[in-house]
Amino acid sequence: MNLVDRLNEIRNTLPSNVKIVAVSKTKPAASIEILYREIGQRIFGENRVLELESKYKILPTDIDWHFIGHLQTNKVKNIVPFVKLVHSVDSLKLLIEINKEGIKINRCIPCLLQFHIAAEETKYGFSNDEVFRMLDDNLFHELSNISVKGVMGMATYTEDQHQIRTEFKTLFSIFNSIKSRYFAREPNFCEVSMGMSNDYQLAVEEGSTIVRIGSGIFGND
Ligand SMILES: *Cc1c(COP(=O)(O)O)cnc(C)c1O
Repeated sequence: MNLVDRLNEIRNTLPSNVKIVAVSKTKPAASIEILYREIGQRIFGENRVLELESKYKILPTDIDWHFIGHLQTNKVKNIVPFVKLVHSVDSLKLLIEINKEGIKINRCIPCLLQFHIAAEETKYGFSNDEVFRMLDDNLFHELSNISVKGVMGMATYTEDQHQIRTEFKTLFSIFNSIKSRYFAREPNFCEVSMGMSNDYQLAVEEGSTIVRIGSGIFGND
């Protein structure tokens, strides 16, 4: 199967309300262009700022670029002019920086709060407590040029389906509790970004609205 067929097959298994981010990190612009032209894929995800910038410059302007990797504050200004969604906000400091750069160019930047739901130590993200503390802080509510649209998380890399499912359930319940406590009157707080090539079906069963799929589309090479 080629990448067009693989993406089509994944699309056909997903409910219509679930969006697919085609994770194109390390893949050539030519592959992105094939998905763009042949089956109208518009959302692509990258995890490195320089790679994202160079692809943005040469590819069609109506691609929705999502940033899914760890974002350093000193690189925020490079992507703020065009990024459609930052999935990986993991500190108030980063949110403040995104807001500051957003103000400079008069743009409101859509963001997700990344939660640490996996057992591994290495994955970035907020803990539950950190986020509630941040959302209780007035500083957060003064940020005029960010729009928090939901949450994101990565499950543990394991064969244990039960563990993965439990982690997705945890993220979904965090989403619900944040929504009811802080965003009850904001219909835009509606996204749960969870699920990758190996676990997206479980994620969708547990309430995902955005899946991020790389190797399942582009292969492992
Ligand atoms: C690479 C990556 C993905 C895609 O992973 P696959 O297993 O190749 O589908 C999804 N989310 C994040 C944050 C990633 O870095």
